[in-house]
Amino acid sequence: MKLHNAPAAGIRRPPRRRRRNCVSPLSAEGSVSKSNCFGTVPAFHGEDPRYIVPAYNRPVRDAAGLQDFLAAVVACDPRNRLPEGCNIPIFEAPLVGIADAHDALFDDLRKPGVVGPIHVLPDYWLPGARSVISYFVPFSGEIKTAYVKGRRLPPLEWVSGRLNGEIFNNVLRRALLRLLQKLGAKAVIPNLDIRYKAENWLPKWSERHVGFVAGLGTFGLHAGLLTVKGTAGRMGSVVTNLVLPPVQRPYTGPYEYCPWKTKKRCGACMKACPVGAVTPGGKDHRVCVTNTAKYIRPAYSAWGYHGCGHCQNNLPCSDRLPAEAATRRKSL
Ligand code: SF4
Ligand code: SF4
Repeated sequence: MKLHNAPAAGIRRPPRRRRRNCVSPLSAEGSVSKSNCFGTVPAFHGEDPRYIVPAYNRPVRDAAGLQDFLAAVVACDPRNRLPEGCNIPIFEAPLVGIADAHDALFDDLRKPGVVGPIHVLPDYWLPGARSVISYFVPFSGEIKTAYVKGRRLPPLEWVSGRLNGEIFNNVLRRALLRLLQKLGAKAVIPNLDIRYKAENWLPKWSERHVGFVAGLGTFGLHAGLLTVKGTAGRMGSVVTNLVLPPVQRPYTGPYEYCPWKTKKRCGACMKACPVGAVTPGGKDHRVCVTNTAKYIRPAYSAWGYHGCGHCQNNLPCSDRLPAEAATRRKSL
């Protein structure tokens, strides 16, 4: 019996086209051949250039090289997309900083009032640690412009980006880990380590504070880190025994980039917070968390999303440094 889609006698079926293999940095680091819905993914054997994207071929032994590597993951990986609507991208190209694992500022983070004694040193995660890589990955313009000023509830794009963005942030953390391992180094992701915990909003490893030590930026009144790509984004870090050149911090004080902290100017984040959680004294985490639990979680319960973000959007520090800080930084 003939199948209805069999070619008629004398007509040759065109040769089947072979599906091209994915060349994202993650597949470059891929391990074994396996089948998935995209077809068969070949194993990555050593330095086979067919499975390495151009950016991945650049030197990766400094912050610029690592930044290129993570930018390639952000640009190529299909998981960097919201699952809703027309799947807008979650993140844009990241910033990368590097700290010496023995930088004295890591000891300072353990002081009460900074993070506290709960915060541990890089050696805790990886005995013999030499460097700490920290990155800031900004939310995409599409996510930030979805934020309507004056509306109490954040948009779906923001709350989805926060949750799905953190899932993708783990992809970035693991990509970095595998890259370091491929370079022959040992590496640990503190925030995914089983020993990680937080007590009373004080974490054993604070991504924001590590970013400050690694030269990414200083704190704002709203407690977020102010970077040259703004404050609206997520952060990650990896501790490694690879010796990498530390980034020279272009600041000395912990609040140097925030005009409210230096000259009592701006204060836009105080006005933006709908529940008064940001005050001249800083951010009250209890008030902030209560707002999320009471208003935002119920509104997005069907999606399982939460997060507020009024103090990260439509501000002078949302996607850049506040003007004064940017000018000062340029003159350095
Ligand atoms: S909005 Fe203004 S006061 Fe608030 S953190 Fe940003 S720069 Fe500082
Ligand atoms: S996340 Fe929302 S509630 Fe919390 S401090 Fe920022 S604006 Fe206020």
